[in-house]
Amino acid sequence: MLKGKVAIVTGGTRGIGLEIVRLFKENGAEVVLLGSKLETVEKAINTLDSEGIKVIGYYPNLSNYDEIKKVIDAVIAKYGKIDILVNNAGISASKSIDDTSSEDFSKIIDLNLNAVFNMTKAVVPYMKEKGEGVILNTSSMVSIYGQPSGVGYPASKFAVNGFTKSLARELAQFNIRVNAVAPGITNTDMVANLPKEIIAPLIKTIPLGRIGEPRDIANAFLFLASDMASYITGEILSVDGCARS
Ligand code: NAD
Repeated sequence: MLKGKVAIVTGGTRGIGLEIVRLFKENGAEVVLLGSKLETVEKAINTLDSEGIKVIGYYPNLSNYDEIKKVIDAVIAKYGKIDILVNNAGISASKSIDDTSSEDFSKIIDLNLNAVFNMTKAVVPYMKEKGEGVILNTSSMVSIYGQPSGVGYPASKFAVNGFTKSLARELAQFNIRVNAVAPGITNTDMVANLPKEIIAPLIKTIPLGRIGEPRDIANAFLFLASDMASYITGEILSVDGCARS
């Protein structure tokens, strides 16, 4: 479904992002994965290598536009184009507002929103030049109704939805589609780090009766990245077993 395409995936070292990298490769794309540090990028590259999947990776500070620009320029020098950008890196929060410092809040916004802007700004000129492109953002089911703690996380994901819908309108004239996937609770380290008392009652509310697997989410990214979604832009696709309340 992605033969001949070149994709960049942020947060590609584990969880949902790693599965997107795997699935995009299985579907014929060249994929560049980004992570937060050398060790995790190397670990992901080695894991994929042991499965016979070859990718390259970088670890720019996603808060720093100049660092990102250097990576994007290196990818262009190697592959000549970027067809698909997946802004997936993210961190969550679960503390009450009393226990959340303004630094905690800024840290979430910086990665979950500002990094999405920085990556997108660096890639869009190349997509415009080519006359096509796909930008996909990882939102969350909490971008629909919020959550009862960790307010920075849903705030960042509501913003990702606004970014997605607005940029889709701005870039449609350049044949660049912009969509987001809003996963429900998914079986990754992000969820493993949350207290069981929070997760167990949530699972009971999921109509499909289970949490999502990374592949469930990656499949939606594959669809939206592919030409099968050629007339879809500005959409927030829920992939959550209908657990969106
Ligand atoms: P994860 O913790 O397994 O992976 C997070 C990824 O983000 C890693 O690859 C990590 O390297 C990267 N990352 C973290 N901090 C970074 C930083 N400072 N700079 C650069 N990269 C950084 O989490 P996941 O569950 O795979 O989450 C991926 C995305 O899915 C996130 O945007 C998250 O908000 C979203 N999401 C997850 C769930 C879930 O239940 N797991 C639900 C809804 C949305």
